[in-house]
Amino acid sequence: MRELRTLEALIERGGSRVERHCLGEIDVGGQRLPLLAVTMGNPDPNVPSVGFFGGVHGLERIGAEVVMAYLAQLVSRLRWDAGLHWLLDSLRIVFMPLVNPGGLLRGTRANPQGVDLMRNAPVEAAQAVPLLGGQRLAAWLPWYRGAVGSGMQAESQALCGLVERELLSHAQAIAVDCHSGFGLRDRIWFPYAHTARPIQHLAEIHALCELLDETLAQHRYVFEPQSRQYLTHGDLWDHLYLQACAAAPRRMLLPLTLEMGSWLWVKKNPRQLFSRLGMFNPGLPHRRARVLRQHLGWLDFITRAAASMPRWLPLGDARAAHEERALSRWYRRPELVS
Ligand SMILES: [Zn+2]
Repeated sequence: MRELRTLEALIERGGSRVERHCLGEIDVGGQRLPLLAVTMGNPDPNVPSVGFFGGVHGLERIGAEVVMAYLAQLVSRLRWDAGLHWLLDSLRIVFMPLVNPGGLLRGTRANPQGVDLMRNAPVEAAQAVPLLGGQRLAAWLPWYRGAVGSGMQAESQALCGLVERELLSHAQAIAVDCHSGFGLRDRIWFPYAHTARPIQHLAEIHALCELLDETLAQHRYVFEPQSRQYLTHGDLWDHLYLQACAAAPRRMLLPLTLEMGSWLWVKKNPRQLFSRLGMFNPGLPHRRARVLRQHLGWLDFITRAAASMPRWLPLGDARAAHEERALSRWYRRPELVS
């Protein structure tokens, strides 16, 4: 598979500064595919950590490509960029760009067992959208959560284990999971996906959002809770976020999902509607290159923001003020606030 070869080549190029982790293997019709992760930077639990994830949905190749393009940029900079080496002394960085290699190989949203990994965690939504929100009727229908009591899929377990070891072992962490396929605009979503209630770290999310608005002043991202669009069962990031909040000592994990607005690519090139991959990926090479380029600045912003959290995380009155602004920006109905 092309993406796996690219990832292995990047790991090779990174040399001793880049660690390769095989988190397991999955079988696709007799072909064994590794579940690969890459780590770099300082493993000390006292420094913050940041993780980049892609390819959870096999149809959304562009998500995996964006994450690998950023990894490729860091690997190149390792050769010459002193600033990057300073950054790596104060930060742990984790990559898992091909979470669902079987889905990528077969060109399916779900994994080879027909399970939608982003509906697979043990989290129940109060009012999920029928079907799209996750269903247990049949694996041949989309958004299948897996059978009741069957536990999480190997890919979901590998992702959760990696997050536990590399992000939740640090007091502060940010995760970015790259997807495509929803809407006309590029969106940055934060939890929850299973309820319209705000998360505990709404103030921190809002401070990060303001930092983004100030730093990348021309950015076009819509920053919002996923629950503003639709509610789903089984969201892996809701599950991991709740786990971080329940950990002792408590951990702060800010999970973000980049949802690239693919409908614009289809609008500009309607022929894409007739290809299965076309709905989720930019078809023309120049458009693909532009999409990759567009998001690299944001991913690098997140890396720097993660490394510098002690400088911008709001405390005391400032924290309360951020929470207040966040509530009026994203959550209008007061009865939803707990
Ligand atoms: Zn997706």
